[in-house]
Amino acid sequence: MSLSENLANALGAPRRIAVLGATGSIGCSTLDLIERNPGLFEVEALTANRSVAALAEQALRVRPRFVALGEEAGYAELKAALSGSGIEVAAGPQALIEAAERPSDFVMSGIVGAAGLPPTLAAVRRGATVGLANKETLVCAGELMTAEVSRWGATLLPVDSEHNAIFQVLDAATPEAVEKLILTASGGPFRTCSLDEMRGMKPAQAVAHPNWSMGAKISVDSATMMNKGLELIEAHHLFGFDEQRIDILVHPQSVIHSLVAYVDGSVLAQLGRPDMRTPIAYALAWPRRMSAPVEKLDLAEIATLTFEAPDALRFPALRLAREALRQGGSAPAVLNAANEVAVAAFLDDRIGFLAIAEAVERTLERYAPTPIEGLQAMFDTDSEARRCAAEIVAALA
Ligand code: NDP
Repeated sequence: MSLSENLANALGAPRRIAVLGATGSIGCSTLDLIERNPGLFEVEALTANRSVAALAEQALRVRPRFVALGEEAGYAELKAALSGSGIEVAAGPQALIEAAERPSDFVMSGIVGAAGLPPTLAAVRRGATVGLANKETLVCAGELMTAEVSRWGATLLPVDSEHNAIFQVLDAATPEAVEKLILTASGGPFRTCSLDEMRGMKPAQAVAHPNWSMGAKISVDSATMMNKGLELIEAHHLFGFDEQRIDILVHPQSVIHSLVAYVDGSVLAQLGRPDMRTPIAYALAWPRRMSAPVEKLDLAEIATLTFEAPDALRFPALRLAREALRQGGSAPAVLNAANEVAVAAFLDDRIGFLAIAEAVERTLERYAPTPIEGLQAMFDTDSEARRCAAEIVAALA
């Protein structure tokens, strides 16, 4: 029996999938895998924010029952594009939540930024299996999310390649036997640049990641290495290790996606080509495996894997994220909100590259961390921090 027949038998019926953020990089890779395996998967719902044409085109291809747009302005156009198709169309923040609440077996959380939190939480609150790419959700509301996952019996499967790697090699039954988690980082496009060179870098240079093809925001986060800082916080919440037991190691080839060091000296790693379809396939087929159309890893051809310590001076975002995690309470949500505002300003060419981390640091300085009691408090902190960061960004422009 073939691997896919085996998987089809194990699943019983096609697994029904909702893809939040379908028009993005994670969303498109997820749909690619789904479309290559029509017997294994069916699509329940797709969402986007404002990419009406792309969402309509995807919907006509994969035939979901429901599509939702975050921004209401595109509703009429989407409705017209899908008229006669039988696909239900909705728009607005509640429509994104409805997409997550629909009865799918698996929800891919692939919206970028804190905007992904409400629909991801809605999926968790119906006890769904969630493939979590949207790391900002755990950065902003890690304690709340993990408590809700336990309360509702939901399953969070890490899709971020580093966390997916750790998930694959971590012996969760014996956390006391783990010395540390080691998150690898490519170092981004400016790994070898001086501070002076980085100062003049433009958005097009920052989004040109050497190994990964990703959306604009995460690509800039990789260039500042804030991405690794966000991942540090994400790893803390996913695996329950405090920040001193999570190291960051620069590995420019992006072949080793992360490692777990055990007390007996063993270090286990997961390796693969830098192609998000590997961790996405792992999550879609979990607890089984499915084949993915990725280039095979040829270590003899790669020949050399290299490693270096991150440079805290040129990449201050790492220190800011570590400090925010140590402080806890509202600090990670403030860090995330300020970073989203500053990255958007950089992508609009309103501030320089180095001003991103500076804006985040100045925003964090304005807030003494406070405990976050519930979702509303988190959203209040997020809005307040965005207002403050916008002022700081305007002053830096
Ligand atoms: P993209 O920018 O490529 O796509 C983002 C998706 O989210 C799009 O569908 C977009 O819709 C939608 N979206 C954007 N803003 C909103 C909003 N306010 N409300 C609702 N939907 C919105 O992002 P990526 O796919 O690169 O990243 C998605 C998430 O996955 C991020 O959290 C990222 O950190 C994480 N991740 C991504 C990886 C990658 O390889 N890309 C790797 C690991 C993690 P529209 O097209 O209409 O704008």
